[in-house]
Amino acid sequence: MDILKLKEELVEYSRKCYDRGMICATGGNISCRVPGEDAILIKGTGSAFSDMTVDDVVKIDLDGNHLEGSVQKSKEWRFHAGIYKVRPDVNAVIHIHPPYATAVAANHDELPLVTNHAKGYLKKVPTVGIAGSGSEDLAANVLEEYKNPERIVILMKEHGLTSVGPDFRKAFFMAEMAEDTAKIALFSKLK
Ligand SMILES: [Zn+2]
Repeated sequence: MDILKLKEELVEYSRKCYDRGMICATGGNISCRVPGEDAILIKGTGSAFSDMTVDDVVKIDLDGNHLEGSVQKSKEWRFHAGIYKVRPDVNAVIHIHPPYATAVAANHDELPLVTNHAKGYLKKVPTVGIAGSGSEDLAANVLEEYKNPERIVILMKEHGLTSVGPDFRKAFFMAEMAEDTAKIALFSKLK
């Protein structure tokens, strides 16, 4: 497996999230499984989706031990690594702070699936409770949902959303769909 290609893909999808207005500043984190290894590539802490390069990506094992790279791992590595442990079907994880989905998470236990597409693709998008960024509590809240093999996207109260998939493309599409669904749900309340 070409690690550089995987890093380039990770950077490409980070930029797509930024271009789509789903993350700002140095928030969010993104990772992928290294095929055939108990290891992942993950964004380094302090780098930004808007201008990161392959040098901002670090390789760690599923217990968080540093394997390769000149930057420190994202502080949210715990739930990324945990998802790969419980979900063999998942090869990519995207965690971002999109404004509409985060607004819905403020006062809904789950994302209202107001379109046929959302119902069909997302199935159910629950909101997990408040916990500090990078905390073990946040990782536990996230993993409680992803233990369910049907779970694709979750909202995180006062925080953002996480999306998973068999590759970056599908995880990104589901994140986009969740954000658009949140936008439509909010606008549907207007009279
Ligand atoms: Zn976050």
